[in-house]
Amino acid sequence: MIPVNEPLLSGSEKKYLNECIETGWISSEGPFVKRFEDQLAATVGRRHGIAVCNGTAALELAVASLGLEAGDQIVMPTFTIISCASAIVRCGCVPLLVDSDPLTWNIDVKKLREKIEYEIGQKGNRRIKAIMAVHIYGLPVDMAPVMELAERYGLKIIEDAAEMHGQTYSGRPCGSFGDLSVFSFYPNKHITTGEGGMVLTDNDHLAERCRSLRNLCFQPQKRFVHEELGYNFRMTNLQAALGVAQLERLNEFVVRKRRMGQRYTELLMDVAGLELMPAHTDYADNIYWVYGMVLKDDVPFDAEEAMRRLGQKGIGTRPFFWPMHEQPVFQKTGLFGEEKHTVAERLARRGFYIPSGMALTDAQIEEVAAEVKDLFKIGV
Ligand SMILES: *Cc1c(COP(=O)(O)O)cnc(C)c1O
Repeated sequence: MIPVNEPLLSGSEKKYLNECIETGWISSEGPFVKRFEDQLAATVGRRHGIAVCNGTAALELAVASLGLEAGDQIVMPTFTIISCASAIVRCGCVPLLVDSDPLTWNIDVKKLREKIEYEIGQKGNRRIKAIMAVHIYGLPVDMAPVMELAERYGLKIIEDAAEMHGQTYSGRPCGSFGDLSVFSFYPNKHITTGEGGMVLTDNDHLAERCRSLRNLCFQPQKRFVHEELGYNFRMTNLQAALGVAQLERLNEFVVRKRRMGQRYTELLMDVAGLELMPAHTDYADNIYWVYGMVLKDDVPFDAEEAMRRLGQKGIGTRPFFWPMHEQPVFQKTGLFGEEKHTVAERLARRGFYIPSGMALTDAQIEEVAAEVKDLFKIGV
């Protein structure tokens, strides 16, 4: 079986973990946590890093730190991971959904503009407070129009860069755009801590809010007296030790991912039934966090069937995200009514990704590509 993801832990990981054990520092009080926060913040060019237990928690912390009121709204893509919507909903706020761009699979910035101009400009909706920009799979969101809209309408930006460590938009690091930006270090991300996440910001006040909310809102003077309810989202020193080791190799990992993506593209670009992600846009080179593909409409089987057949050949796959407006959990409450977002709906049904982990070898890439090609030889 070629797994859909396998991380590379062959650098200083063991050494730093041993240091934790030998010194007895295993909790969030240990020195690797601050080191990891400072180093990732420096890599992305931000003032503050707040390490947390996973990327979903980082998103929730980012939303919570804004201090929004119940019923306030945050605009986000429908095609993303549930973490984005759940962070908003758990803070008592409401997600407003926008469809995807059919080429980059990111939020369609033209539709985003129309939505915001209609809601705020025409309807006078004053409840929209932020945009959650989520970089999906390999290419960043077109940030210039997002920033322009945020500026014009006084909206905050939460940037979900969970899949974009080491990626840039017009030469500037992803994760440096949001008022708050978020990373995940799940083992399928470019760098991993097993489980882990981080919020980054340049804003001293938001950083302070995030630090306090992460740690149950303990107060420095009266520790067990609470003005506010927080979370225990702390990252352990063990996780951060892994993070510091992984970060040492980030540049190498990015080169490796790009090479893997280019190799897959060379092998698959002539397959008539497949839509592949563009290798670049005018603002970024694809970083191929995962190697995704979409079955063209005239292919007589869907992604589920393709994944089933690949699984029989020992090839690990994952489906694409399932859109937020089609999530049973939200349909039960009628959160998004009868909304339709046809691009995202199609991506969910026709899209999937193939093994893309850091430990993938050239020989495995060739084998996977050959099996993908074979899907189309078998026919119906
Ligand atoms: C992985 C991911 C997350 C969630 O991170 P976890 O660490 O798994 O909780 C959030 N957003 C995006 C876009 C992701 O890919």
